[in-house]
Amino acid sequence: MQRQALAWRAMGIRVAFVPTMGCLHAGHLSLVQRAQREVGAKGRVVVSIYVNPTQFGPAEDFSRYPRPLSRDLALCREAGVDVVFTPTDAAMYAGQAEGSYSTYVVEERLSQSMEGRARPTHFRGVTTIVTKLFNIVQPSVAVFGAKDWQQAAIVRRMVADLNLPVRMLVAPTLREPDGLAMSSRNRYLDAAQRTQATVLWHSIQLARKRAQSAPVRAPVLKAAVARLIATQSQAKLDYVEFFDGDTLEPAPRVRRGTHMALAVFVGKTRLIDNAQL
Ligand code: AMP
Repeated sequence: MQRQALAWRAMGIRVAFVPTMGCLHAGHLSLVQRAQREVGAKGRVVVSIYVNPTQFGPAEDFSRYPRPLSRDLALCREAGVDVVFTPTDAAMYAGQAEGSYSTYVVEERLSQSMEGRARPTHFRGVTTIVTKLFNIVQPSVAVFGAKDWQQAAIVRRMVADLNLPVRMLVAPTLREPDGLAMSSRNRYLDAAQRTQATVLWHSIQLARKRAQSAPVRAPVLKAAVARLIATQSQAKLDYVEFFDGDTLEPAPRVRRGTHMALAVFVGKTRLIDNAQL
C-alpha cells in the first residue's frame, strides 16, 4: 500500500482516504462519495478496513465485531473505490504480543472526557492507528464521520499538533428513517432493542427542543435525558454531555448551537450519538 501511495505521490496523483472498521453501511459510503468529490476523476480513493485491536478495551467487542469482508469489498467495488486496504494485525502491530511494538500517539486533552473517560485506552488506539494509516496511505485528504464527533475533533487536533500534511473533512451522520444513527453495531440489536434504540435520537430531539426556546442549565437537561432513557426497559445511560463543538469544553448552560453527545447501553450493545442542538 505504501509503495503504491508513494508512486501516486511521485506522479502528482492525489489520494482521499476513508478509514473504517468495515461492516460497511450507507454512512461509510457517504464518506466515500465525499472523498471522490474531493479528489475528482484524476485522484484515487482508498478505504481501509481494519478492526484495530488497540482501540478496544479488554471487555469490549473486538473479537465478535462483524467482519463481512467479501460483502464490504463488493460494496466498495460498486461505489468505485480504487483501493481497499485490509492489513492484518501482524502487519500493523508486528510482535505486539512479544513486546516488540512500543510506539503510540497520544492526544492528552480532548481525549479525557466522554468516550475517553468511558473507554480509557480507546483514543490512544485511534490516534496511533490513524497516524500509521496516514503514513501508509499518504492521503492529501481524509474523511471522517460526524457520528464519532469526539474522534474527529481529536484527529483534527493531532493533525494540527503534529503538522501532518492531511486535510481533515468531517461528513454528516447518516440516520435510519426513524432517526437511529447508522452503525455497524446496530446489527447486534434484536427487534425489541432496535425499537428502544431510537431513544438516543429522541433524547437529542428533546434537548434540541428545550434548548431552542431558552438556555437551560446542563444538569437540568441531563436529568431530563436520563428520565427519558429510563423509560426504555433495556436502555441504560452511560453518559450525556453538553459542550462546545470545537473545543469540547463542557457547556454549563445549553443553548441553540451547543453540542450534545450521549452513550447508551441497549441490552449489551453500547451505542453513541451526537448533534449540534
Ligand atoms: P467505523 O467503521 O465505525 O470506525 O467508522 C468509520 C468512519 O465512518 C468514521 O469516520 C465514522 O465516524 C464514520 N461513520 C460511522 N457511522 C456513520 C454514519 N451513520 N454517518 C456518517 N459517518 C459514519
